[in-house]
Amino acid sequence: MTTKPWHGGELRWDHLGGEWSVLAPGREVAPTGAPCPFCPGDGEDTPPETWRLPGETDATWRVRAVPNRYALSDRHEVIIESPDHDWDLATGTDDEAGAVLFAWQERHRALRHGAAQVVVFRGHGPGAGISVSHPHSQVVGLPVLSAATRRELVAMREHYDRSGRPFAAELLAGELSSGERIVLAEGRTVAFVPFAPASGFEIRIVSARHRADFAAIPRDELGAIARALRLVLSALREELDDPSYHLILHTAPVGLEHVPYLTWSLHVLPRQYVPAGLELASGIPVITSTPEESAKRLRNRLP
Ligand SMILES: [Zn+2]
Repeated sequence: MTTKPWHGGELRWDHLGGEWSVLAPGREVAPTGAPCPFCPGDGEDTPPETWRLPGETDATWRVRAVPNRYALSDRHEVIIESPDHDWDLATGTDDEAGAVLFAWQERHRALRHGAAQVVVFRGHGPGAGISVSHPHSQVVGLPVLSAATRRELVAMREHYDRSGRPFAAELLAGELSSGERIVLAEGRTVAFVPFAPASGFEIRIVSARHRADFAAIPRDELGAIARALRLVLSALREELDDPSYHLILHTAPVGLEHVPYLTWSLHVLPRQYVPAGLELASGIPVITSTPEESAKRLRNRLP
């Protein structure tokens, strides 16, 4: 039995599944029906702020970070992406999307100390299990590497040792030369539907400038990535009528920010259906649209 204490709960290692489980028995869940705790004003109710991107005056903010009141660990923050409750990444400006990604960089760096990996994710819509609908993302420092992260690391390192090139560089070259799964390519930023997606209409956003650490991307390059993200989310919203989705950052674990074999990427995973029995029984995703057709439909929705 392998366990590891963690913020009032514990991590238990599942020998059969080969992955950690987080046990958080005392964790409260956010109440429903209360006024929005993230909207500025009288109803605002968050723990003290840890970071903010100031607005035009000292009293205002564009993006802010606070500890998660319903935290899974002592390194669990919420990034409140806008003061506007109805703002959305898909319908905001490039500049606003860039401010959110900048906050991800800042808080990723801030939560690294003592963590094995820092994960960043954002949910949109009821299918993503969101308890507060105000636009927000979350950053969590984990004391262990997940088995999925470790598997990916080993595969990327082995590929690099064999070929002398990062796997992501070869994958991107292949996608660009075929073109059939490309959704958008602007400068060095590329969005594509993966050959074997984990969910229907999955979209990955990558850069031809290969870098392990998302937080090390300079501002001008981050702006181009934010724009691509906004455009593909907007296309997805149009094509699938504002579907629920998860947006997940893949970036280097702590201490591996400078290795040549890893490359960051952003993954948009639509949550259109409850997983089918076959998926739960086998762990194999069932996708009802081909990636080539999905990419074509998304391309047609771009401005
Ligand atoms: Zn709100």
